[in-house]
Amino acid sequence: MTKEYDIAIIGGGPGGYVAAIRASQLGLKVAVVEKGKIGGTCLHAGCIPSKALLRSAELYAQTKNARAFGIIAPEVGLDFSLVQNRKEDIKDRLFKGIQHLMKKGKIDVYEGKGSILESKDVRIQLNNEGGEVIVSPRNILIATGSRPRTFQGLEADEKYVMTSDEALEMETLPKSIIIVGGGVIGIEWASMLVDFDVQVTVLEYADRILPTEDKDVSKEIQRLLKKKGVKIVTGARVLSETLEKGEGVSIKAEHKGKEVSYTADKLLVSVGRLPNVEGIGLEKTAVEMNGMFIKTNEFYQTREPNIYAIGDCIGGLQLAHVASHEGLIAVEHMAGENPNVLDSTLVPKCVYCSPEVASVGLTEDEAKESGYQVKTGKFSFRAIGKALVLGESDGFIKLVVEEGTNKLLGAHMVGPHVTDMITEVGLARVLNATAMDIAHTIHPHPTLSEAVGEAVLAIDEMAIHG
Ligand code: FAD
Ligand code: NAD
Repeated sequence: MTKEYDIAIIGGGPGGYVAAIRASQLGLKVAVVEKGKIGGTCLHAGCIPSKALLRSAELYAQTKNARAFGIIAPEVGLDFSLVQNRKEDIKDRLFKGIQHLMKKGKIDVYEGKGSILESKDVRIQLNNEGGEVIVSPRNILIATGSRPRTFQGLEADEKYVMTSDEALEMETLPKSIIIVGGGVIGIEWASMLVDFDVQVTVLEYADRILPTEDKDVSKEIQRLLKKKGVKIVTGARVLSETLEKGEGVSIKAEHKGKEVSYTADKLLVSVGRLPNVEGIGLEKTAVEMNGMFIKTNEFYQTREPNIYAIGDCIGGLQLAHVASHEGLIAVEHMAGENPNVLDSTLVPKCVYCSPEVASVGLTEDEAKESGYQVKTGKFSFRAIGKALVLGESDGFIKLVVEEGTNKLLGAHMVGPHVTDMITEVGLARVLNATAMDIAHTIHPHPTLSEAVGEAVLAIDEMAIHG
């Protein structure tokens, strides 16, 4: 007899494992099938390990600059193996934490590869030749995530070409690197590696790096990365067939009508991520696709009412907090509740380069294209006491509001700790607050958050320190 469950979740990333916890809280009997390690890309090959490396890079760069704080540290060195050990320790602690949460929620975790059968049972091929198990769930949640996209000829190899998966496992740092793609991964790695003293060249196809952010943000981050020594080439069409490997790598890109050659020790490809939708039995279901991704309604239900899908495998914003939130909505819907649907303009997006980038809502251009009459307010961290105290006064906060109503349409930040500060504006948008409500919120002094209040006042040229 097959074991019965209220829900079987295929994939234990931040989408799947968070959904499992909520399902167990709602009294459902849950199975999670995970072929790798519970925690998924985010914990093992994404958010957490990359941020651990970024923190070491930031601290290394700050320590080299310690004299500016009156601290004399004549011999600042780097032991990259210790940097990697610290990253592994953090991953391990969080991994154990999630395993504990699975036990606490009485969630059955199957270590193996899951696929949907015609009967809508789930077959699990257990890892380590452990055989096969079949479970019978009332609902299935597909949360199989994504993997790096590469180009033909630019696949990861053992030595020269890496995706973020291999880059996270580097044992030593290269002297130089070419990064193909100046999106979120490309810019986080450019920032990290230049802080680790690596010579970095970013080749980006679009006319600016971080092309989905507000134009002012792209411009500022480009300026600051260039100041640190990163070479950035935008409007560059990389010709993957020209890749040559030898002492290091060389590759050509078409730039302003000419073919230009770039060389470095290694090359990192960061040009987006593909959904994991193969080999999970979709062909045995009526599930529809939306291009490469699984198509769902606003409650993450596919065309098969008992099969839901969330996270990176359905596309949209491929972010951990989005996957988790979608998981909560899907499970609550399965349980017969009526969850609020997710509004993507309320989702904060963060880039953990140094200085950081954070945004929520519409960019200035998007707001105009949506037909809004727009006003903006911008305030620089240079006039913020706490930023000077920290020695991190680069960047600004820009707010986009609707003329007349002062409706808050978007916030765009570059600067210290802005990934933590974006939540204030996110909450304001959830509560439908106007920009003036933020100005009436008292921001303690001295804090970085004062820049948010000042940016609101700057909309009407009323900033106090501007
Ligand atoms: P995943 O985390 O990919 O998890 C899917 C899981 O399903 C995996 O564990 C996989 O092994 C398993 N699986 C797949 N197929 C099967 C199968 N057939 N059977 C069983 N198991 C299966 N997002 C942020 O919000 N903030 C960040 O700072 C951030 N940094 C990132 C840095 C990097 C380098 C990368 C690559 C990504 C980063 N992301 C970040 C994105 C984030 O990691 C993803 O959006 C998030 O992990 C998606 O969650 P998910 O649950 O949909 O999928
Ligand atoms: P991305 O979509 O953010 O950026 C890819 C970049 O590559 C784009 O700027 C694109 O214009 C460029 N590109 C595409 N083809 C190119 C070519 N032929 N030559 C040069 N440039 C080219 O994708 P990513 O940086 O690989 O990240 C993947 C996903 O992981 C993203 O969806 C992101 O949300 C997520 N992620 C999030 C975080 C975070 O939240 N801090 C960090 C890392 C990754």
